[in-house]
Amino acid sequence: MQAIRVEDYGGPGHMEWREVTDPRPGPGEALVTVLAAGVNYIDTYHRTGLYPVGLPFTPGLEGAGVVRELGEGTEGIEVGDRVAWSTCLGSYAEQVVGPAERMVPVPPGVEIESAAGLLLQGITAYFLANATFPLSEGDRALVHAGAGGVGLLLIQLAKRRGAEVFTTVGSAEKGRLAESAGADHVICYRETDFGDAVEEIAGPRPLDVVYDGVGAATFDRGLTLLRPRGMMVTFGNASGPVPPVAPLRLTQEGSLFLTRPTMGDYMATRAELLETASSLFEMLISGELGLRIGHSIPMAEAARAHRMLEGRETTGKVILTS
Ligand code: NDP
Repeated sequence: MQAIRVEDYGGPGHMEWREVTDPRPGPGEALVTVLAAGVNYIDTYHRTGLYPVGLPFTPGLEGAGVVRELGEGTEGIEVGDRVAWSTCLGSYAEQVVGPAERMVPVPPGVEIESAAGLLLQGITAYFLANATFPLSEGDRALVHAGAGGVGLLLIQLAKRRGAEVFTTVGSAEKGRLAESAGADHVICYRETDFGDAVEEIAGPRPLDVVYDGVGAATFDRGLTLLRPRGMMVTFGNASGPVPPVAPLRLTQEGSLFLTRPTMGDYMATRAELLETASSLFEMLISGELGLRIGHSIPMAEAARAHRMLEGRETTGKVILTS
């Protein structure tokens, strides 16, 4: 089969589309024909080695396709089923093998591209808004990179819980998208200090929670905007990893809570995965949740997709099609 391979950590040019050995499913695993793969920021961390994986490897954790073969002892899915997944490394390929228990049946009425693009960022937005800091009516939340994949979904889920949503974006066009997703206050943080803008709207230290997937560039200022006992949720490193923080800093800023969540710890069991995925699919089908697939790119051109993502040129979801 054809797949993207990374032989050494590095830039997007380190991804090459080439012939590799066909994978075979082991016990508990499923072999799936990949019809579309989701691109996520974490794929760039794998590629650069920020989050090391064994070399050589095929990137991509997310996708959707059709089950072709099952290993021994698999349960929950059948050959011929349409499935989606968000934790199977090797998804930038014509076929992928992964644990069957991490694959979710795609309901009728959901297109395969949407299924490939919803789960990873959707599950993330879902646990951030409902579990990491369960938003209540009137809570003030700041969502960084509001026109991104996680951002557009998180704004919508935060609004459903009744929060007042502040968001940052890198351009006016991105601002319009964040606004259509429901954001109450949109701030272009490339033109203005986002902290000053938030305080101008809502006064000093007005926020209950900051959801920060941008990392190094925004973390510090975010801490200064939280009310006493507010929560900083640092969940990503799009601008680089956040440097170490002294616990005393949290005291000085007002007995803050700091958490660095990751999807695996919020989606540990198949029951949790199926419940969250089915909520997301239901909201998508009913139109309560909008998924913007901003870019659909041939899988062989994955390097171009990464350049765009890291160059802040994308909005919403990026998918790779086979
Ligand atoms: P996005 O689609 O949000 O793309 C990243 C966005 O970050 C860019 O579009 C850009 O938006 C903004 N950004 C700000 N500064 C930079 C910079 N220096 N370089 C590049 N981008 C920058 O990506 P995802 O939705 O895939 O992921 C968002 C974040 O969430 C990432 O940090 C990711 O690692 C994290 N994440 C964490 C998970 C977890 O379990 N902890 C799971 C999923 C995602 P703009 O131009 O508007 O500033």
